[in-house]
Amino acid sequence: MILRSLKTSCFCRIRFWQKLFTLVQDSFYNFLMILGAKKETSLCLVFSYILLLNCSSLSVPKFDSEKAFAELNGQCQIGPRYPNSPGHDRCRKYLLDKLSGYTNLVKIQDFTYRDEALQKDLKLTNLIASFYPEKKERVLLCAHWDTRPFADQDPDSSLRSKPILGANDGASGVAILLEIARIISQRKSQWGVDLIFFDGEDWGPESDLDKFCLGSKYFAKNKGNYQPQIGILLDMVGGKNLQLYKEAHSFIYAQDVLNLVWERAKKLGFTCFKDSIQYFVYDDHIPLLEAGIPCIDLIDFDYPWYHTVSDTPAKCSPQSLQIIGDLLVDILYHPFELTPSPGKKE
Ligand SMILES: [Zn+2]
Repeated sequence: MILRSLKTSCFCRIRFWQKLFTLVQDSFYNFLMILGAKKETSLCLVFSYILLLNCSSLSVPKFDSEKAFAELNGQCQIGPRYPNSPGHDRCRKYLLDKLSGYTNLVKIQDFTYRDEALQKDLKLTNLIASFYPEKKERVLLCAHWDTRPFADQDPDSSLRSKPILGANDGASGVAILLEIARIISQRKSQWGVDLIFFDGEDWGPESDLDKFCLGSKYFAKNKGNYQPQIGILLDMVGGKNLQLYKEAHSFIYAQDVLNLVWERAKKLGFTCFKDSIQYFVYDDHIPLLEAGIPCIDLIDFDYPWYHTVSDTPAKCSPQSLQIIGDLLVDILYHPFELTPSPGKKE
């Protein structure tokens, strides 16, 4: 089915270019003749011009890591963005403004989480930006936009109660998704795309998994019949010296997606994608897997500044964003078959 629709669109494209060719040939040829060029020269120029136009329309759009890195900085300039903080409010608005510029299909999923231990109600928001809703085969790309309220892994114990800036842990994934949103708003992707920005991922103490991934849990519980073919979660993908191992839950429960991503990364020559499996990471992909969405976690869990106050833009690199961005663009614009993975985590 996918191949057939592709052929049709290619055919339409050829007919379109044939018509355009005739039109441009006439006007361009006349123009050159007026300038006194020889007939053969002018025809040759017309062909080159048409070829150039056609090639550019078929190429994969370019992921701009400078723009993505500016989005990483933009979030960090807001400051820490943990739930109920002023930075959290500002970042919510920042994301909403950006996304609304790229699609009119932005869903704001507001909800409250009661933290009984702290006697606090958290005001949380998932943002869901959709593109090309008419396409049935869909890719879900997601990241968390909140940051951790305390730097509990900082080597300096006096800093452990301070909030982190979350340049890599939070902002990097979001920055890539914002640049992807810009790209797909300008050129139709092969698949329908849903970008989800989860809130409340990093709220809990390490000993209490119930207080992690609040946004993805809420989304999964309320997903209705939403069923993308593949899901890719980005978390801590912007650090310098990026190294990505296969996360173990992803390997067990969404192997088709993992294989696809690693295969594309290999084709693009990205040596930072390692073939071995490391770590079971509890992240936003877990509630999605439990709800039957085959989602993998792309995460560099060896990032040295994980949950410390040193998780700043200086520890991140545009090159890392470029690698992940190129990979996602490659997936979104290539006509391979998307097969839903049957894996489900109970
Ligand atoms: Zn974190």
